[in-house]
Amino acid sequence: NQAPVITIDGPSGAGKGTVSQLVAEKLGWHMLDSGALYRLLALAVSHHGMSAEDVDTLKVLAEHLDIQFEHSADGKVEIVLEGETVTQAIRTEEVGNQASKLASIPEVREGLLLRQQAFAQAPGLVADGRDMGTVVFPDAPIKIFLTASAEERAQRRMLQLQQKGGTVNLDELVKTIKERDERDANRAIAPLVPAAGALVIDSTDLTIEQVVEMVFAETVKAG
Ligand code: C5P
Repeated sequence: NQAPVITIDGPSGAGKGTVSQLVAEKLGWHMLDSGALYRLLALAVSHHGMSAEDVDTLKVLAEHLDIQFEHSADGKVEIVLEGETVTQAIRTEEVGNQASKLASIPEVREGLLLRQQAFAQAPGLVADGRDMGTVVFPDAPIKIFLTASAEERAQRRMLQLQQKGGTVNLDELVKTIKERDERDANRAIAPLVPAAGALVIDSTDLTIEQVVEMVFAETVKAG
């Protein structure tokens, strides 16, 4: 499959999701939110009351899980898992934590590998995740590593949570984010590190539009 791929990796809260979506829209390319796959698997594991110990069954589930991305006319995407719409349900902290635990299991990552690669369809793909440039699309012509300070990411997360009506402690958030960074960067399999040759963008003091422009410029440069 020769469709060009732009990989956008980085820690959560760096703005990958929004940037990937805007870049994909601008180019008219497909988009892969790989984190959603890990979240969907986590939700399915919980629905089926499965044990995370049984790694062979987890791999089979990862390979065959019934997932649909349904595009509506207004450009929105609904995510359907085994016939049930779970677009919102996969976004909770709890599902995110479960996803992150499953993501450290090699069989789970192997089970999702081909499914992720199958998203690389013409005219092109913007792939958002942690290991898009290092593992899933190592030959991608354009690789971005998008980051931001832990404090800035905590601030952004706090705003999101407040918009949903929650109360949050900023210091607690900074602490959790630093712990998660540490774990992601040091895990044995597919650790969160910039791919060789990746353009590292620190979004701490940049707007979303500025980041999108930088990614776009990189794309133009690569032809
Ligand atoms: O990006 P998002 O927060 O939705 O991802 C959920 C979890 O899935 C992350 O915390 C990470 O542990 C895992 N993940 C991963 N590799 C990816 C995407 C997500 O390990 N490519």
